[in-house]
Amino acid sequence: MNVHALSSPEAHPALVLNADYRPLSYYPLSLWSWQDAIKAVFLDRVNIVAEYELAVHSPSFRMLLPSVVSLKSYVRPSRTPAFTRFNVFLRDKFQCQYCSSARELTFDHIVPRSKGGLTTWENVCAACSPCNLRKGNKLPKEVRMFPLQKPFIPSVEDLHRNGRRFPPNHLHESWMDFLYWDTELEP
Ligand SMILES: [Zn+2]
Repeated sequence: MNVHALSSPEAHPALVLNADYRPLSYYPLSLWSWQDAIKAVFLDRVNIVAEYELAVHSPSFRMLLPSVVSLKSYVRPSRTPAFTRFNVFLRDKFQCQYCSSARELTFDHIVPRSKGGLTTWENVCAACSPCNLRKGNKLPKEVRMFPLQKPFIPSVEDLHRNGRRFPPNHLHESWMDFLYWDTELEP
């Protein structure tokens, strides 16, 4: 299949909606590559909701790349967000949990790994680089550094609430009708 366009199709992912037209996932936002989106169209698993102006060609057909697709059968969404670096930052509102700085953010293991601390929602928080260095391999009580909030497993709703303050970049205009960042802005 040839792509006849100036811009790269790689930069044209499809937003994937559940059968109820809500994104399959917000964190991370459910996106498929154009290849996966087209494959799903041919397998009759999705409807095309919106398209880019970019087409792909083969000798036998021409097709606009889907920018939004919706699943034909409903998938029960996960209640627990994925444990990712971005989601930990989002839970912690992109703030160092020791000094509130928003700069040079890293991850701190509250109970250090060297002392058996696990890499889990409850033991990892956002920390700026200076605080992380200061804390080093010590326990909070040894250096008297305690996180502003006790790290917790966030719900999808917790991340949505914080996500309104930190909307992601690079959202295609055809996605906006399906994303809460645009439709539920707080006054
Ligand atoms: Zn700090």
